[in-house]
Order: sequence, then structure tokens, then C-alpha cells
Amino acid sequence: MTIQPASKIFIVGSGVFGISTALWLARSGYNDVTVFDMQDTKGSGYNPDAGIDSASADINKIIRFSYGEEIEYQRLAFEAAKIWEEWNIELQESRTEDLPEVLRTGSRKLWWNCGYLRMSDGAEYDAFELKTLENMKKEGIRESQFMVDNEIDIQRAEQSGWGQKLDPCNRKSKFGVHKAVLDSSGGFVVAYKSCAWAQHLATKAGVKFLLHPSKGKVVHIQATEDGKPVLEMADGTTHHGDYVVVAGGGWTPSLVPEADGLLETTAGSVSSIRLPDDRPDLWERFSPEKFPVVSWNMKTKGIYAFPITEQGVLKIGYRKTKYTNYQDIDGRRISVPKTAHVTDDKEANIPLEALEAAKDIISSNMPELTELGISSTKLCWYTDSIDNSFVVDFVPGKPRVAICSGGSGHGFKFLPILGREVVKILEGNGKQTVYGSMWQWRDSNNKIRNGLEEGEQGPRVLGKQRMANETNWSFT
Ligand SMILES: Cc1cc2nc3c(=O)[nH]c(=O)nc-3n(C[C@H](O)[C@H](O)[C@H](O)COP(=O)(O)OP(=O)(O)OC[C@H]3O[C@@H](n4cnc5c(N)ncnc54)[C@H](O)[C@@H]3O)c2cc1C
Repeated sequence: MTIQPASKIFIVGSGVFGISTALWLARSGYNDVTVFDMQDTKGSGYNPDAGIDSASADINKIIRFSYGEEIEYQRLAFEAAKIWEEWNIELQESRTEDLPEVLRTGSRKLWWNCGYLRMSDGAEYDAFELKTLENMKKEGIRESQFMVDNEIDIQRAEQSGWGQKLDPCNRKSKFGVHKAVLDSSGGFVVAYKSCAWAQHLATKAGVKFLLHPSKGKVVHIQATEDGKPVLEMADGTTHHGDYVVVAGGGWTPSLVPEADGLLETTAGSVSSIRLPDDRPDLWERFSPEKFPVVSWNMKTKGIYAFPITEQGVLKIGYRKTKYTNYQDIDGRRISVPKTAHVTDDKEANIPLEALEAAKDIISSNMPELTELGISSTKLCWYTDSIDNSFVVDFVPGKPRVAICSGGSGHGFKFLPILGREVVKILEGNGKQTVYGSMWQWRDSNNKIRNGLEEGEQGPRVLGKQRMANETNWSFT
């Protein structure tokens, strides 16, 4: 049993996974596709400053091609990059009056190829770096990578205009050693504008939307006698369809009990520093033209920072520890988001250890920003799978309910292309495709399952952390 062009298809969630699926379904000839969301992502343009809380509604996300052993993701990221380029052009050429509000003002550039510099304190390159370089060589794209202590690479970087991004934090002169790889094909995307653009394309392709805190909020997915899904909404209404795709991000396990043990909702910690208007020197120094995305000791510290946004905000992400929040949901103990705006239980702060890590990357690598202090923090909720790979498949025993989730902290870059693979899976051809096989429903008896084995007893539970507050934001 698989979707047909005439099928009435519901998608729960208008984040990256839902919107990409909707766009590709509509463009593949499915003309009865409705996206439900409990947040008004259209009215707000996915703007996190307007109170939208989801993994996708963020100021920026990294575009990277370095995937170590996982060459399939590397290939998909390069395919996505072609569409990111096309989207930049299409958006620039669009008539202002045709665009959603959020895309009418400011920069029309979604994808910024500013480079991605992976820095490390170690004396040697780790296995991940070496494997990535080997895979890049295999694919004939090694020239896009520059090892900062390799004379030939340094020369190539100078000649191709990437020289100034090899050591933007002056680590060589400060510490005497600088180990890093600059990926000149990487950079970042403006996340909220990218989602708004994809939603705009989906709307033009005929996708319908119901985005509302009660009318758009699915509380249960029931089934008729013939197994067709019935969505029960928070306002008491119901919707009858042929198929439903649950792409609810961190809320997915709440709606699909079968996903317990396969997916876990966890939080990354985000801090930011707002540059003052009267510091043009800093605006220039940390602009995407001058500064790449940087990560620092991803294995041991798990910390990264972006060039500034057009509003002058520099974002720092911490992913070494991903926090859980176990609650009772319909009689089950599962981890669910706890956000600043959307959830009943609110949280605007981040754990102190995450804030300290953010301050550490700044003090060690961008000390000119310490006088400004941190200006805001937030938790951003991932949906991790047991092996960090996505989960896109029909739910076992429910042939009309599919799941499209498990972004595991790296799904955003695939916004333009993900739905192409999802459609193949929904059409029943997934098992014959590389990605359908990778993303199929799975189980694991491994003792170590990406941290999911820890559950509520583990050390990452949010309630067990010492939380930071504004008094911790200054560097003194
Ligand atoms: C801190 C952090 C940093 C990241 N950095 C990167 C990066 O640099 N590069 C990269 O490629 N990826 C990155 N990712 C991963 C990427 O952001 C995610 O994979 C992707 O955004 C997930 O999208 P989603 O659609 O699954 O979930 P979400 O974006 O969370 O969207 C889910 C949507 O479903 C809606 N919803 C949920 N439940 C219901 C319901 N019951 N009824 C109606 N609507 C519902 C929500 O309101 C929400 O809008 C990062 C993620 C995090 C958390």
C-alpha cells in the first residue's frame, strides 16, 4: 500500500522535513497535500525572534560536506548545494511583491559560501578529517579542502582567494600551532528565510497549510476501520485522509509511540553575541566575507560559531552534550522539547556548562568579543536517532502512517533535496534506493545506541543540570 497521485496526504510539521516532503510531493504530481503545524510558520516567516520554536526556525545553520565515512551524506549534500545555488538566483530574481513578507526586506541571499574551518587543539588531524579528505579525493573534489599547515594547500588557498580564512582567529601566532581544515565549499544558510522560501515554493506548487496553535495542532493520530488516518486536533476537530507523514521534529515521538527507542528528543545549546552598531570594525571582521563558519575541537568540546547575521548577531552552538527532558506523555516516559515559547513548561536558559563552552570558544579564539558579553541563549531541540541517520519509513503495522524525522543535528542542509528521496520511499520504492535503505525503520541491540540507551537515568537530563542565567553572560 503506497501513495497514489490522487491520495489525500497529510503532513504534520512544517519544519525542514515536512516542508521539503510537501514541496517534492506537490512537484511530483500529488495535488492533495496539506501541512499542519501548531505554530504559524507562515505568518511569522519562521523567525525565531517572533517566537517560533523548532529546530528549523533558527537564524543560521552550517552547510558542510565533510562526512567522514558517510559518503552517501556527502554526495547528497553536494546535490543539495546545486539547488541552494539555484534558490539564491531564483530568490534574487523574484519580484518583491510576490514574496512572503520575511523575504521582502534585507538580504536576498539564503546560502553563503563563506567556508567552514574545522579547527582543533590537537597536534594531529583526527581520523574523521583524514577520512573526509580521502573521500573528497575519491570524488575528485579534494581541491575544495585546504589543510592549513600543508604548503601546497596554503599556496592554492592564497591563489584562489581563500588565504585570509585559513587562520581567522590568529591561532598560529597565539599558540604557535594551528591544525585545521578549511572546506571552501561549505558555509551557512539563513535558516528561517530558507524555510520561508521553501514554504513559498510549496504554496505555489499547490500545497495547503493549516498553521494554528489549536486548529493546526495534532493531538492524536487515530485510524478508521480500513486503516486510514484520522487526525484529532487540539480544537476538537478531525481530519480524514489517506496517508499521514509525521514530521514533527522533537515532538515526533509524542505522536508516534512506536518511535520510542529509535528516536530521542534532545537539546542543543545556542548562545549569541549582538554586535553594537557603533563597532564597524567588528561588523567587518566577523562578516561572512571575512570570517568563515568555525568549529573548535568538535570531538572533545563540540563547539562552533558563525559569521554575523545581517542584524549583527554572532551565533555559537554547543553540541557536545545533548540534553534530554523526560516527561509523562500518554502514560509513557519520553523526552520532549522544553522551549521558551511553545511548550507548557518553558525554558529560556541553557545549562551552565554549555554557556561556559560558548564563552571558551570566544575567549580563546575571538577575544575582541569578550567585552560585549553573551546577549541571548536558547535550547534548540534535535530529534536524534539511534545511529544519527534519518528515519523515513512507514511505521511498522501502520501502512498509512509514515515518519520523516531523526535529523540528528545535520538535516537542515538537505532542505532542497530531502523530499525527493522521501517521495520515493512513500511511493514504495525506498528499499531499492540508497537513502531509503539507510533511513528505513530499524532496531538495534547494540549496548551503545547514540546515547538513547541512557534514558531518564542518564547524566544528560536537563533537570540534573545547573542552569545559567543572565548573571553568567558577562566574561568577567
Ligand atoms: C542546535 C541545532 C543545531 C543544528 N545545526 C545544524 C546545522 O548546522 N546544519 C544542518 O544541516 N542541520 C543542523 N541541525 C539539524 C536541523 O536543524 C534539523 O535536522 C531540522 O531542522 C529538523 O527539522 P524537522 O522538520 O524534523 O523538525 P522541526 O524543525 O523541529 O519542525 C517540526 C515542526 O513540527 C511541528 N509540530 C510538532 N508537533 C506537532 C503537532 N502535534 N501538531 C502540529 N505541528 C506539530 C512543530 O511546530 C515544528 O514546526 C541542527 C539542529 C539543532 C537542534
